Amino acid sequence: MAKLYFRHGTMGSAKTLNLLAVAHNYRQQGKQVLLLKPDMDTRFGRENIKSRAGLQMEADILVSPTTDLFQLNYEGISCILVDEAHFLSMEHIEQLRDIALDKEIPVICYGLRTDFRSKLFPGSLRLMELSDSIEEVKATCYYCNRKSIMNIRHVNGKATLEGPVIQLGAEEKYFPVCYRCYRHQLEEAGERKPTAAMACR
Ligand SMILES: [Zn+2]
Repeated sequence: MAKLYFRHGTMGSAKTLNLLAVAHNYRQQGKQVLLLKPDMDTRFGRENIKSRAGLQMEADILVSPTTDLFQLNYEGISCILVDEAHFLSMEHIEQLRDIALDKEIPVICYGLRTDFRSKLFPGSLRLMELSDSIEEVKATCYYCNRKSIMNIRHVNGKATLEGPVIQLGAEEKYFPVCYRCYRHQLEEAGERKPTAAMACR
C-alpha cells in the first residue's frame, strides 16, 4: 500500500533540498514524479521549487484553493512530492490521502508543523491526523545548539507574535529556534509574561 508521508521541519531545515533530492533520485532511475506546490508561494517565481542551497526544479502543478487534485493525470507517476504542504487546505490533504491509497502512489508532503505563534497550520494538522509516516527534518536552533522545533518571527530585530501568519518572501524575518530560545525572546520583547512571574502548576 502506498503511503502518505509528512516530513516536517522548521524554517531552514532543508526540507526543499530533501524533496529535490528525492525527485532527482526517481528521475535518475527513469521514473516520473509529480511536483506540487501551493499557488500562493511565489518567493522564487511562481513555478519554481527552490532550495535555499540553490537547487531548483519547476513545479508541475500549482495548487490553488479551487484545484481538484482528483482530476489530475497520474498515469506513469511513481511518486507525488509536495512542497510547502502546510499551505494546502485540509480538503487537499484529504484528497492526497485518498490518492495515495487509490492510485497506489506514495505522496510525500514537506512543510512546517507550526506557525510563528506556535499553532499548527490547518494543512499540517490534517497531515498529522492522516499520515502513515510522520518524520522530522531536523535543524539546529539559530541561537543555541539545541534542535529547533519552533519558528520565531522578528520585526525590526524584535521577536513578535503580531502580523499575518502567512508572509511569504520574508524568510529573513523568521528563525528556527528551540522552545527555550522561543520563550526567552518573546519574554524579552514583552510579547509574553516572564516565566518566573507565572504561577507554578
Ligand atoms: Zn535555542
